[in-house]
Amino acid sequence: MKRHINPASEIVLNRRQLLGGGALVAVGTTLPVGLLANDVYNFRHGAFDITVLSDGELIVPGSFIAQDAPAEQLQEALSSSETSSPPVHLRTNIPLIRHGNDLILVDVGAGAKYQPTEGRLLGCLRTNGIDPASITKVVLTHAHPDHLWGLLDSEQRLRFSNATYYVGASEWSFWVASDVATRLPQDFRSMVAETQQNLKSIQGRTKFVKSGDDIVSGMRVMATPGHTPGHFSLELEGGEGLIITADAVSHEVISFKYPTWHNGFDFDSETAIATRKALLDRTSKDRMKLLVYHLPYPGIGYADARAWTFRFIPST
Ligand SMILES: [Zn+2]
Repeated sequence: MKRHINPASEIVLNRRQLLGGGALVAVGTTLPVGLLANDVYNFRHGAFDITVLSDGELIVPGSFIAQDAPAEQLQEALSSSETSSPPVHLRTNIPLIRHGNDLILVDVGAGAKYQPTEGRLLGCLRTNGIDPASITKVVLTHAHPDHLWGLLDSEQRLRFSNATYYVGASEWSFWVASDVATRLPQDFRSMVAETQQNLKSIQGRTKFVKSGDDIVSGMRVMATPGHTPGHFSLELEGGEGLIITADAVSHEVISFKYPTWHNGFDFDSETAIATRKALLDRTSKDRMKLLVYHLPYPGIGYADARAWTFRFIPST
């Protein structure tokens, strides 16, 4: 598989910066480039034309996404992953889906407000000849910074000004609650203000969805809670089936080989683990394709099962 994005080099970050956003100190950084028109991965699935764009990448310590991993096993897992060494480079694959007259984005990236290696989506859209105003629907899988904060530009205007937005009803009510900060671990509280501002900006344009609802014909919401309370994935009809998921799985080795390791980004770890195992079990049994937000670009492949451990097999 071709490598489309240059990995960033070492980023010095502390835990608060990692979770709450803010300025990071980049050391000798080679920032990921936007995907050029002739580099983007495009495929047809049933009635859907899917182009995988990128917002860049998120850089995190391996120990944060595998909190209870024995050091030796974690090192082995990371060394067999795409970028081979810590810190972990989580890509941000953003599907742009054409269906009839609709142009649908699934998540919008971080808008350059979270880590300096993110915020490339707008450039990527423009490079590929897509006017943000032509997006008709924006599906938000959950309200974490790297999926949501790209809604607003630097002057607090909506980037996708003509879109209808789709948010999980339970996700919305969790994040807009006045006491949400007290329900989050201390390190996550600094993200609340920006997250609430982004959500409020789409309040009048949002349709609240629950598991089983259709975004368009053949594109169905599937609850995959745990990572956040209302985190959902999308199931697309066609061929062998396709599930687009954001953070039910997040790393091509850790999430598949060790699905029961605790991810520090998961709000309810036990629910997240049950969701991950169920998703991997179902997709491997049914041979369904996966498109995953944080896997090596373009994040498309299959889960290959061996009891409760899986292997990610890219299929591009
Ligand atoms: Zn994420």
